[in-house]
Amino acid sequence: MTAVIAAARRQTSWTQALELAAVAELSRRRHDQESGLAAQGMGQLQINAIVVDEVSLALTLTGTAAAGWVCLAEQLADDLPVTAAALVTGRIDLKRAQIIADALRGVERAVATEVETAVADDAPGLTAARLRPRVKRAIRAADPQAFEQRRRAARDERRLELWDNATGTSDLAIRNITTGDGHAIYNRINAAAQALKTDGDPRPIDHIRADLTLALLRGLPLPEAIRDLLTGGIDPAPGQADREPAPTRAGDDDGADLLDAMDRQITQALAGITEEHLRDLLTQARLDGRLDGLALLITQATQAMADGLQRLRDSWCQSTGNDPDRHGHDGYRPPAGMRRLIERRHRTCVFPTCNARSTRCDLDHTRPYDKGGATCRCNLAPLCRRHHKLKQHRRWRLFQLWPGLLIWITPTGTWHIITPDLRE
Ligand SMILES: [Zn+2]
Ligand SMILES: [Zn+2]
Repeated sequence: MTAVIAAARRQTSWTQALELAAVAELSRRRHDQESGLAAQGMGQLQINAIVVDEVSLALTLTGTAAAGWVCLAEQLADDLPVTAAALVTGRIDLKRAQIIADALRGVERAVATEVETAVADDAPGLTAARLRPRVKRAIRAADPQAFEQRRRAARDERRLELWDNATGTSDLAIRNITTGDGHAIYNRINAAAQALKTDGDPRPIDHIRADLTLALLRGLPLPEAIRDLLTGGIDPAPGQADREPAPTRAGDDDGADLLDAMDRQITQALAGITEEHLRDLLTQARLDGRLDGLALLITQATQAMADGLQRLRDSWCQSTGNDPDRHGHDGYRPPAGMRRLIERRHRTCVFPTCNARSTRCDLDHTRPYDKGGATCRCNLAPLCRRHHKLKQHRRWRLFQLWPGLLIWITPTGTWHIITPDLRE
């Protein structure tokens, strides 16, 4: 059934690509036809407006929506061949194409091509929330100067915006402040809200955050402790380019950083091999017409790989751990340093599409502790409550082949390989 759903989505992407290509073609023709008029003083902008109106009528869209659609169509047709091709073949859907196009609007053609090529392989496997930072990193890597210019230009547009909603409420947003400020303020409000929640505040966390922000902006009196949490100096958010990261880590984490980096290298290589191996199995199963038993086949193959790597993993962990005589940490709860390493390795729950922050997740023993699973970086991964439950479902399987390299196997036998998050 999930294959049908995925196929239908690919079909949708294909028709949307078709529609966008037609819009781009319409725009091209209008520009050709009207080019004679340019001599009579009709500018490019007026020709654009005509195209937008035409599309607006054809699709019953408001002018703004039609303008966005035309802009996307032209961008895909003229500047983003890789992304356009990915949409046609359904490797990415419209939302992801839109994210890439938005991020690359106004970016020089050569840089845009470099960026879209760089993210092409990853985009199909990333949710919208993860694709955005991925594209941002690629732009920064491709052209650090242009990235910095765009950031400055965006900062020059910083403003407070207010909209009235049809529901009788309003939205208020500060736009284009520095990422450092944005995250620091949000984290601060969030920390205060979590504190209230822990104290038994019955409101949903979203409401607490909104109410706190409002109270703060309106200068309403707040409980002492909450006021301290909110206004006691703002820490920079970790990993943001604008400021130095806060020196919160212990000195002995330097070794952990190196280890972390080595694990990442190994996992990337292993992930490639694993993907290839499972793909071969899938191809063979298709040829043999044995797709019914696919979940079992993939599970067994993954189990065999996990078993095959067991000894190597043991000796790797032992030689890099604190105690050369044993694998991992004594006891169920991981020590603080290990926890930090795992939370940095995966910033979110390791379910592929989940955005729950790892600092708010359970650290799950991938192989259960009571079945001999070690309390070690090779057997721990953050899972939110919901996906912790899912993992315990008998038709879902989760393996950790190497520290930070996890594989989900779904009931239909599709697999999703999770590698450590790349750093900002
Ligand atoms: Zn280990
Ligand atoms: Zn989750």
